[in-house]
Amino acid sequence: MVARRKTRKVVIGDKAHGFVGIGGDAPVAVQTMTSGYTWEIDKCVAEINRMAAAGADIVRVAVPERKDTSALKEILPRVTVPIVADVHFHFQRAIEAVEAGIHKIRLNPGNINDRDQVKDVIQACKAKKIPIRVGVNEGSIIERKDKQKRMKELGGVFSNNKNGHLLAIMIAKLEEYLDIFHEEDFHDIVISAKSIDPEVVIDAYREISQRFDYPLHLGVTHAGPKETGTIRSVVPLGHLLCSGIGDTIRISYANDPVYEVEDGLELLYVLGLRTRVGAELIACPTCGRIQVDLFKLVQDVRKQLAKEIKVPMKVAVMGCVVNGPGECEGADIAIFAGDRKGIIYVQGEKVANVPEEQILERLLIECRQFEQKVKRGEAKLGEKKVDILPPDPIGDLGSGWEKIEKDRRALPVVK
Ligand code: SF4
Repeated sequence: MVARRKTRKVVIGDKAHGFVGIGGDAPVAVQTMTSGYTWEIDKCVAEINRMAAAGADIVRVAVPERKDTSALKEILPRVTVPIVADVHFHFQRAIEAVEAGIHKIRLNPGNINDRDQVKDVIQACKAKKIPIRVGVNEGSIIERKDKQKRMKELGGVFSNNKNGHLLAIMIAKLEEYLDIFHEEDFHDIVISAKSIDPEVVIDAYREISQRFDYPLHLGVTHAGPKETGTIRSVVPLGHLLCSGIGDTIRISYANDPVYEVEDGLELLYVLGLRTRVGAELIACPTCGRIQVDLFKLVQDVRKQLAKEIKVPMKVAVMGCVVNGPGECEGADIAIFAGDRKGIIYVQGEKVANVPEEQILERLLIECRQFEQKVKRGEAKLGEKKVDILPPDPIGDLGSGWEKIEKDRRALPVVK
């Protein structure tokens, strides 16, 4: 991991919704966007609150029509995280959103480019100290013809890059657009340059990070369904974050936006860019030694831990004792499954041996009790982590060990 790039810091929010920093010394923020209509106020509020409960720091809403910006006045008092208005084509929507008390505006240079209109938005935001994200999505700028001159100049700079043509357009568009902001002495800016192509995303953000000191909002646009979108998103975002680039992220899926929040947070947790909230689940992939329904158990454990546990304890769910003890080193709580049963360990100490149908319930009881102990200061996370000993395989579990032992004995002795 490279140290994070130094950027200006932008702060969005207010007392009622909390303040979220983007860039500077602020942790990388996770954001997402509602999928429903903003004018359907109750549904929109419910969706935002569900995302906030999942851990979203910031939520964006679409405001294509006046009825959407009108709804903001009723939505904002009923949600607890800063809200961003996503504005395209109609600069008036940005002005209306600012009047309604929105916390940040997103403008697309590809479809709001009249200088006077942009200046009106900037002035409205400046008066209320509201930041603006300038989002130059590949799709919305690629056909523009007025960038030809700058593109020719930049063409040389990017001649050794297969995405050079596109990078030249993106940089040229950004330079031109940011000039309007600089003329108005406005610097509460966040930049994004999304593409569907992970390679373009990496190249574009790298180039932008070297040219501007504004915080960067990372994302892959139209990444597709979660099943394939995860890799399409996480590869470039992970690459950039490991290079110290990126101050807020949005993973976008054609699915429930809560997945975007969960996966965005997990990405930041595994990279050590955010302190984990809630349990970390380790689970084996299963193999031919398995003697319980581990897939179901892992999913049930995951859902319950996400609902109940707020302390960042490590929980391991292992299909057998073969690799289990070694692989779950560091787990505060571990279960090793055997022949339709499971042994549960809490910080290296065996606390139960229960039949399969009781594993989930007992494991959760142990997790809840351990959480309380941690909160009371009677236990420390990660302590005694290397003391998990393999359970007595034959006596306690009668599991995969028996098969292995049997086969091993059957092998001819090599002299
Ligand atoms: S822990 Fe056991 S069941 Fe799970 S993958 Fe490893 S050997 Fe297979």
